[in-house]
Amino acid sequence: MATRVLPLYEVRGNARERGRQQGDAAREQVEASLAQYRELLPHATGLNWDEALVETRKFLPYGEVAFPGFVEELRGIAEGADISFLEVWALNCYEGLMQPEQAWGCTSVAVSGDLTGNGHVFLAHNEDWQSEDADHVYLVRSIPDEGPSFLAMTYGPLLANIGLNACGLAVAIDSVYPTDVRAGVPRILCARAILAARTIGEAIRACVPKSRAGGYNHLLADASGELYNVETSAATHEIEYGQSGWLAHSNHYLSPKMQALEEPGVYAGSNVRVNRARRLMAAQVGSVTVESLQTLLRDHVNWPDAICSHEDSGDPVHERTQTVASLVMDLTAQVMWAAPGPPCQNDFVPFPLLAGGPKAGAALCRKPTC
Ligand SMILES: [Zn+2]
Repeated sequence: MATRVLPLYEVRGNARERGRQQGDAAREQVEASLAQYRELLPHATGLNWDEALVETRKFLPYGEVAFPGFVEELRGIAEGADISFLEVWALNCYEGLMQPEQAWGCTSVAVSGDLTGNGHVFLAHNEDWQSEDADHVYLVRSIPDEGPSFLAMTYGPLLANIGLNACGLAVAIDSVYPTDVRAGVPRILCARAILAARTIGEAIRACVPKSRAGGYNHLLADASGELYNVETSAATHEIEYGQSGWLAHSNHYLSPKMQALEEPGVYAGSNVRVNRARRLMAAQVGSVTVESLQTLLRDHVNWPDAICSHEDSGDPVHERTQTVASLVMDLTAQVMWAAPGPPCQNDFVPFPLLAGGPKAGAALCRKPTC
Protein backbone atom coordinates (compact mmCIF):
# COMPACT_ATOMS: atom_id res chain seq x y z
CA MET A 1 0.00 0.00 0.00
CA ALA A 2 1.14 3.55 -0.75
CA THR A 3 1.35 6.15 1.98
CA ARG A 4 0.02 9.12 0.03
CA VAL A 5 -2.36 11.14 2.21
CA LEU A 6 -4.96 13.68 1.07
CA PRO A 7 -3.99 17.25 2.02
CA LEU A 8 -6.08 18.81 4.81
CA TYR A 9 -6.60 22.58 5.07
CA GLU A 10 -8.29 24.20 8.06
CA VAL A 11 -10.33 27.39 7.59
CA ARG A 12 -12.37 29.50 9.99
CA GLY A 13 -14.25 32.79 10.26
CA ASN A 14 -16.94 34.31 8.07
CA ALA A 15 -17.71 33.11 4.54
CA ARG A 16 -15.33 35.45 2.73
CA GLU A 17 -12.52 34.73 5.19
CA ARG A 18 -12.99 30.97 4.95
CA GLY A 19 -12.96 31.14 1.16
CA ARG A 20 -9.77 33.22 1.12
CA GLN A 21 -8.06 30.73 3.42
CA GLN A 22 -9.18 27.79 1.25
CA GLY A 23 -8.08 29.47 -1.98
CA ASP A 24 -4.72 30.48 -0.53
CA ALA A 25 -3.97 27.08 1.02
CA ALA A 26 -5.10 25.15 -2.08
CA ARG A 27 -3.60 27.57 -4.62
CA GLU A 28 -1.59 24.80 -6.28
CA GLN A 29 -4.67 22.55 -6.72
CA VAL A 30 -6.78 25.52 -7.88
CA GLU A 31 -4.31 26.62 -10.55
CA ALA A 32 -3.75 23.08 -11.82
CA SER A 33 -7.47 22.36 -11.92
CA LEU A 34 -8.19 25.56 -13.80
CA ALA A 35 -5.53 24.78 -16.40
CA GLN A 36 -6.93 21.27 -16.86
CA TYR A 37 -10.53 22.40 -17.33
CA ARG A 38 -9.57 25.03 -19.86
CA GLU A 39 -8.28 22.14 -21.95
CA LEU A 40 -11.01 19.63 -21.08
CA LEU A 41 -14.04 21.82 -21.43
CA PRO A 42 -14.49 21.70 -25.22
CA HIS A 43 -14.44 17.89 -25.13
CA ALA A 44 -16.99 17.63 -22.32
CA THR A 45 -19.33 20.48 -23.18
CA GLY A 46 -18.78 21.58 -26.77
CA LEU A 47 -17.99 25.09 -25.52
CA ASN A 48 -14.71 26.98 -25.48
CA TRP A 49 -13.60 28.66 -22.26
CA ASP A 50 -14.97 32.11 -23.09
CA GLU A 51 -18.32 30.63 -24.09
CA ALA A 52 -18.44 28.67 -20.84
CA LEU A 53 -17.84 31.86 -18.83
CA VAL A 54 -20.79 33.49 -20.61
CA GLU A 55 -23.06 30.46 -20.09
CA THR A 56 -22.25 29.97 -16.42
CA ARG A 57 -22.67 33.70 -15.72
CA LYS A 58 -26.40 33.03 -16.29
CA PHE A 59 -26.40 30.75 -13.20
CA LEU A 60 -25.07 33.45 -10.87
CA PRO A 61 -28.30 35.33 -10.01
CA TYR A 62 -29.92 32.05 -8.98
CA GLY A 63 -27.02 31.16 -6.72
CA GLU A 64 -27.00 34.64 -5.18
CA VAL A 65 -30.68 34.32 -4.27
CA ALA A 66 -30.62 30.75 -2.95
CA PHE A 67 -27.26 30.62 -1.18
CA PRO A 68 -25.60 34.07 -1.01
CA GLY A 69 -23.22 32.98 1.76
CA PHE A 70 -21.73 30.23 -0.37
CA VAL A 71 -21.33 32.53 -3.37
CA GLU A 72 -19.46 34.80 -0.94
CA GLU A 73 -17.28 31.82 0.01
CA LEU A 74 -16.47 31.37 -3.69
CA ARG A 75 -15.52 35.05 -4.01
CA GLY A 76 -13.12 34.42 -1.15
CA ILE A 77 -11.66 31.33 -2.87
CA ALA A 78 -11.00 33.43 -5.99
CA GLU A 79 -9.28 36.14 -3.93
CA GLY A 80 -7.23 33.63 -1.96
CA ALA A 81 -6.04 31.82 -5.07
CA ASP A 82 -5.64 35.10 -7.00
CA ILE A 83 -7.80 34.09 -9.98
CA SER A 84 -10.99 35.66 -11.33
CA PHE A 85 -14.27 34.96 -9.55
CA LEU A 86 -16.05 34.16 -12.81
CA GLU A 87 -13.54 31.40 -13.53
CA VAL A 88 -14.10 29.96 -10.05
CA TRP A 89 -17.83 30.26 -10.60
CA ALA A 90 -17.62 28.52 -13.99
CA LEU A 91 -15.89 25.49 -12.50
CA ASN A 92 -18.53 25.29 -9.77
CA CYS A 93 -21.18 25.21 -12.52
CA TYR A 94 -19.24 22.76 -14.67
CA GLU A 95 -21.55 19.77 -14.27
CA GLY A 96 -24.42 21.92 -15.51
CA LEU A 97 -22.68 22.18 -18.87
CA MET A 98 -21.71 18.52 -19.31
CA GLN A 99 -23.27 16.45 -22.05
CA PRO A 100 -25.18 13.30 -20.98
CA GLU A 101 -22.73 10.88 -22.58
CA GLN A 102 -20.13 12.11 -20.07
CA ALA A 103 -21.88 10.04 -17.37
CA TRP A 104 -19.13 9.59 -14.79
CA GLY A 105 -19.59 7.65 -11.63
CA CYS A 106 -19.51 7.43 -7.89
CA THR A 107 -20.78 4.77 -5.48
CA SER A 108 -22.20 5.48 -2.01
CA VAL A 109 -23.62 3.40 0.84
CA ALA A 110 -24.96 4.37 4.26
CA VAL A 111 -25.82 2.15 7.19
CA SER A 112 -27.54 2.81 10.52
CA GLY A 113 -26.14 1.75 13.88
CA ASP A 114 -28.69 -1.08 14.12
CA LEU A 115 -26.71 -3.01 11.51
CA THR A 116 -23.11 -2.27 12.45
CA GLY A 117 -20.78 -4.18 14.70
CA ASN A 118 -20.25 -1.32 17.17
CA GLY A 119 -23.56 0.60 16.82
CA HIS A 120 -21.94 3.45 14.88
CA VAL A 121 -23.58 5.04 11.82
CA PHE A 122 -21.47 5.08 8.66
CA LEU A 123 -21.60 6.71 5.24
CA ALA A 124 -19.07 5.44 2.66
CA HIS A 125 -18.35 6.93 -0.74
CA ASN A 126 -16.06 6.41 -3.69
CA GLU A 127 -15.53 9.61 -5.62
CA ASP A 128 -15.03 8.74 -9.28
CA TRP A 129 -13.97 11.50 -11.63
CA GLN A 130 -11.42 12.38 -14.27
CA SER A 131 -8.02 10.83 -13.65
CA GLU A 132 -6.41 14.16 -14.41
CA ASP A 133 -8.22 15.65 -11.39
CA ALA A 134 -6.89 13.07 -8.93
CA ASP A 135 -4.11 15.34 -7.66
CA HIS A 136 -6.51 18.27 -7.15
CA VAL A 137 -8.52 16.58 -4.37
CA TYR A 138 -8.13 17.73 -0.77
CA LEU A 139 -10.00 17.96 2.52
CA VAL A 140 -11.27 21.09 4.24
CA ARG A 141 -11.87 21.32 7.99
CA SER A 142 -14.12 24.37 8.32
CA ILE A 143 -14.97 26.19 11.54
CA PRO A 144 -17.52 28.83 10.49
CA ASP A 145 -18.60 31.74 12.65
CA GLU A 146 -22.25 31.09 11.85
CA GLY A 147 -22.92 27.35 11.77
CA PRO A 148 -21.66 23.85 12.50
CA SER A 149 -18.07 22.93 11.85
CA PHE A 150 -17.51 20.31 9.18
CA LEU A 151 -14.88 18.17 7.47
CA ALA A 152 -15.37 17.64 3.74
CA MET A 153 -13.72 16.72 0.46
CA THR A 154 -13.38 18.97 -2.55
CA TYR A 155 -11.32 19.68 -5.67
CA GLY A 156 -9.45 22.75 -6.93
CA PRO A 157 -11.66 25.84 -6.50
CA LEU A 158 -14.88 23.96 -5.72
CA LEU A 159 -16.96 24.42 -2.61
CA ALA A 160 -16.52 21.65 -0.05
CA ASN A 161 -19.25 19.14 -0.85
CA ILE A 162 -18.96 15.59 0.56
CA GLY A 163 -18.41 15.27 4.28
CA LEU A 164 -19.79 15.31 7.80
CA ASN A 165 -20.58 18.04 10.28
CA ALA A 166 -20.59 18.62 14.02
CA CYS A 167 -24.38 18.26 14.20
CA GLY A 168 -24.02 14.59 13.27
CA LEU A 169 -25.00 14.94 9.59
CA ALA A 170 -23.18 13.54 6.58
CA VAL A 171 -23.68 13.78 2.84
CA ALA A 172 -22.38 12.02 -0.26
CA ILE A 173 -23.36 13.12 -3.73
CA ASP A 174 -23.72 10.96 -6.82
CA SER A 175 -23.95 12.61 -10.22
CA VAL A 176 -27.14 11.89 -12.16
CA TYR A 177 -28.02 13.03 -15.64
CA PRO A 178 -31.55 14.45 -15.97
CA THR A 179 -32.72 15.92 -19.26
CA ASP A 180 -34.40 18.95 -17.65
CA VAL A 181 -31.16 20.88 -16.97
CA ARG A 182 -31.35 24.67 -17.27
CA ALA A 183 -29.77 27.83 -15.90
CA GLY A 184 -30.42 27.84 -12.17
CA VAL A 185 -28.85 27.11 -8.79
CA PRO A 186 -25.72 24.98 -9.40
CA ARG A 187 -26.06 21.60 -7.71
CA ILE A 188 -22.79 21.91 -5.81
CA LEU A 189 -24.24 24.79 -3.77
CA CYS A 190 -26.90 22.40 -2.50
CA ALA A 191 -24.24 19.94 -1.38
CA ARG A 192 -22.39 22.74 0.42
CA ALA A 193 -25.64 23.83 2.09
CA ILE A 194 -26.15 20.34 3.51
CA LEU A 195 -22.85 20.67 5.37
CA ALA A 196 -24.35 23.74 7.09
CA ALA A 197 -27.56 21.93 8.10
CA ARG A 198 -28.29 21.26 11.76
CA THR A 199 -30.99 18.61 11.32
CA ILE A 200 -31.81 15.91 8.78
CA GLY A 201 -34.88 17.97 7.81
CA GLU A 202 -32.73 21.01 7.06
CA ALA A 203 -30.43 18.78 5.02
CA ILE A 204 -33.32 17.47 2.91
CA ARG A 205 -34.56 21.04 2.31
CA ALA A 206 -31.06 22.09 1.22
CA CYS A 207 -31.26 19.53 -1.62
CA VAL A 208 -34.28 21.17 -3.23
CA PRO A 209 -34.05 24.97 -3.46
CA LYS A 210 -36.27 26.61 -6.05
CA SER A 211 -34.90 27.14 -9.57
CA ARG A 212 -32.29 24.39 -9.55
CA ALA A 213 -30.01 24.01 -12.56
CA GLY A 214 -29.91 20.22 -12.39
CA GLY A 215 -29.65 17.56 -9.75
CA TYR A 216 -27.67 14.99 -7.80
CA ASN A 217 -28.56 12.08 -5.68
CA HIS A 218 -27.80 13.26 -2.16
CA LEU A 219 -27.26 10.33 0.20
CA LEU A 220 -27.92 11.83 3.64
CA ALA A 221 -27.40 10.33 7.07
CA ASP A 222 -27.56 11.53 10.64
CA ALA A 223 -25.98 10.14 13.77
CA SER A 224 -29.27 8.65 14.97
CA GLY A 225 -29.29 6.45 11.86
CA GLU A 226 -31.83 8.31 9.73
CA LEU A 227 -30.91 7.68 6.09
CA TYR A 228 -32.27 9.26 2.91
CA ASN A 229 -31.57 9.20 -0.79
CA VAL A 230 -32.81 12.53 -2.17
CA GLU A 231 -32.83 12.23 -5.96
CA THR A 232 -33.16 15.64 -7.59
CA SER A 233 -33.38 17.10 -11.07
CA ALA A 234 -33.89 20.72 -12.06
CA ALA A 235 -37.66 20.61 -11.67
CA THR A 236 -38.55 17.63 -9.50
CA HIS A 237 -37.26 15.25 -6.85
CA GLU A 238 -37.98 11.99 -5.06
CA ILE A 239 -37.12 10.94 -1.51
CA GLU A 240 -36.25 7.36 -0.50
CA TYR A 241 -36.11 6.55 3.20
CA GLY A 242 -33.66 3.96 4.53
CA GLN A 243 -36.35 1.78 6.05
CA SER A 244 -34.21 -1.34 6.18
CA GLY A 245 -31.28 0.40 7.86
CA TRP A 246 -29.05 0.87 4.83
CA LEU A 247 -29.07 2.52 1.41
CA ALA A 248 -26.88 2.47 -1.68
CA HIS A 249 -26.71 4.66 -4.76
CA SER A 250 -24.63 5.23 -7.89
CA ASN A 251 -25.21 7.33 -11.01
CA HIS A 252 -28.67 6.53 -12.31
CA TYR A 253 -32.01 7.31 -10.74
CA LEU A 254 -33.63 4.56 -8.69
CA SER A 255 -37.18 5.93 -8.62
CA PRO A 256 -39.33 5.32 -11.74
CA LYS A 257 -40.54 8.92 -11.58
CA MET A 258 -36.99 10.22 -11.88
CA GLN A 259 -35.95 7.58 -14.44
CA ALA A 260 -38.41 9.21 -16.84
CA LEU A 261 -36.05 12.20 -16.86
CA GLU A 262 -32.87 10.43 -18.00
CA GLU A 263 -31.71 9.11 -21.35
CA PRO A 264 -32.20 5.31 -21.44
CA GLY A 265 -29.48 2.76 -21.94
CA VAL A 266 -26.24 4.43 -20.84
CA TYR A 267 -26.05 3.37 -17.19
CA ALA A 268 -24.83 -0.25 -17.31
CA GLY A 269 -21.73 0.44 -15.20
CA SER A 270 -23.77 2.37 -12.67
CA ASN A 271 -26.28 -0.50 -12.40
CA VAL A 272 -23.50 -3.01 -11.84
CA ARG A 273 -21.91 -0.88 -9.11
CA VAL A 274 -25.09 -0.23 -7.14
CA ASN A 275 -26.18 -3.88 -7.34
CA ARG A 276 -22.74 -5.05 -6.30
CA ALA A 277 -22.78 -2.58 -3.36
CA ARG A 278 -26.21 -3.87 -2.32
CA ARG A 279 -25.02 -7.49 -2.39
CA LEU A 280 -21.90 -6.68 -0.38
CA MET A 281 -23.96 -4.71 2.15
CA ALA A 282 -26.57 -7.47 2.50
CA ALA A 283 -23.78 -9.95 3.25
CA GLN A 284 -22.51 -7.90 6.20
CA VAL A 285 -25.77 -6.73 7.76
CA GLY A 286 -25.39 -6.82 11.55
CA SER A 287 -21.61 -6.71 11.54
CA VAL A 288 -20.67 -3.71 9.36
CA THR A 289 -17.38 -2.08 10.37
CA VAL A 290 -15.08 0.65 9.07
CA GLU A 291 -12.86 -2.11 7.71
CA SER A 292 -15.69 -3.98 5.94
CA LEU A 293 -16.79 -0.75 4.26
CA GLN A 294 -13.22 -0.07 3.15
CA THR A 295 -13.19 -3.58 1.63
CA LEU A 296 -16.48 -2.82 -0.15
CA LEU A 297 -14.95 0.35 -1.61
CA ARG A 298 -12.02 -1.73 -2.92
CA ASP A 299 -14.28 -4.17 -4.81
CA HIS A 300 -13.15 -4.96 -8.37
CA VAL A 301 -16.13 -6.79 -9.94
CA ASN A 302 -16.63 -5.38 -13.47
CA TRP A 303 -13.11 -3.90 -13.42
CA PRO A 304 -12.16 -1.28 -14.58
CA ASP A 305 -15.69 0.15 -14.15
CA ALA A 306 -15.87 -1.33 -10.67
CA ILE A 307 -16.80 0.20 -7.30
CA CYS A 308 -13.03 0.72 -7.03
CA SER A 309 -12.82 2.35 -10.43
CA HIS A 310 -9.69 2.38 -12.58
CA GLU A 311 -8.98 4.27 -15.74
CA ASP A 312 -9.31 2.45 -19.04
CA SER A 313 -6.14 3.06 -21.02
CA GLY A 314 -8.17 2.56 -24.19
CA ASP A 315 -10.16 5.73 -23.55
CA PRO A 316 -9.02 9.13 -24.84
CA VAL A 317 -6.99 10.92 -22.15
CA HIS A 318 -9.70 13.50 -21.46
CA GLU A 319 -12.29 10.73 -20.90
CA ARG A 320 -10.25 8.58 -18.50
CA THR A 321 -11.85 8.29 -15.08
CA GLN A 322 -11.03 6.50 -11.84
CA THR A 323 -11.79 6.62 -8.15
CA VAL A 324 -9.95 9.78 -7.05
CA ALA A 325 -10.84 9.63 -3.35
CA SER A 326 -12.43 7.07 -1.06
CA LEU A 327 -14.18 7.99 2.18
CA VAL A 328 -15.71 6.14 5.12
CA MET A 329 -17.41 8.58 7.49
CA ASP A 330 -18.14 7.47 11.05
CA LEU A 331 -20.95 9.81 12.11
CA THR A 332 -20.93 8.55 15.69
CA ALA A 333 -17.20 9.03 16.32
CA GLN A 334 -17.13 12.07 13.96
CA VAL A 335 -14.16 10.73 12.04
CA MET A 336 -13.57 10.56 8.28
CA TRP A 337 -11.39 7.72 7.02
CA ALA A 338 -10.00 8.98 3.72
CA ALA A 339 -7.75 7.48 1.04
CA PRO A 340 -6.58 8.98 -2.22
CA GLY A 341 -7.94 6.85 -5.02
CA PRO A 342 -8.08 4.16 -6.12
CA PRO A 343 -8.37 2.82 -2.54
CA CYS A 344 -6.88 -0.57 -3.50
CA GLN A 345 -3.61 1.33 -3.92
CA ASN A 346 -3.75 3.57 -0.85
CA ASP A 347 -4.33 3.25 2.88
CA PHE A 348 -7.28 4.88 4.63
CA VAL A 349 -6.18 7.49 7.17
CA PRO A 350 -8.48 8.75 9.98
CA PHE A 351 -9.21 12.49 10.11
CA PRO A 352 -11.18 13.69 13.17
CA LEU A 353 -13.85 16.24 12.35
CA LEU A 354 -12.57 18.48 15.13
CA ALA A 355 -9.36 18.39 17.11
CA GLY A 356 -11.46 18.93 20.25
CA GLY A 357 -13.50 15.76 19.73
CA PRO A 358 -17.15 15.11 18.91
CA LYS A 359 -18.62 17.54 21.45
CA ALA A 360 -16.71 20.60 20.28
CA GLY A 361 -19.40 21.76 17.84
CA ALA A 362 -22.50 20.53 19.64
CA ALA A 363 -23.60 23.92 20.98
CA LEU A 364 -24.53 25.03 17.46
CA CYS A 365 -26.93 22.17 16.90
CA ARG A 366 -30.63 22.02 17.60
CA LYS A 367 -30.58 19.54 20.43
CA PRO A 368 -33.08 19.43 23.32
CA THR A 369 -31.59 20.32 26.68
CA CYS A 370 -33.84 17.97 28.68
ZN1 LIG B 1 -8.86 -0.82 -7.35
